Amino acid sequence: MPDNCNKHEANASGKYYITNDCDGCGKCFPYALQNIMYTQGASKFFIYRQPIDDQEKEKVQRALKACPISCIKDDGAKV
Ligand code: SF4
Repeated sequence: MPDNCNKHEANASGKYYITNDCDGCGKCFPYALQNIMYTQGASKFFIYRQPIDDQEKEKVQRALKACPISCIKDDGAKV
């Protein structure tokens, strides 16, 4: 059972999501501009759109690896 109960509510439904542990550092953002967005005030980031092709998947994976506190997850529902 994936531990995704800490998902930020704004995440698009699907495999990738960002948890409420996000501290808004913004390090992930440049890696996946088409898929990651920030809340008003940029205090939290979330998956705005699930990747639609392999190129976007690779970008989100890079963002996932760049997150210093590992709050980007890939164990949500299948896309
Ligand atoms: S890198 Fe991680 S902590 Fe920083 S904004 Fe992105 S998801 Fe949040």
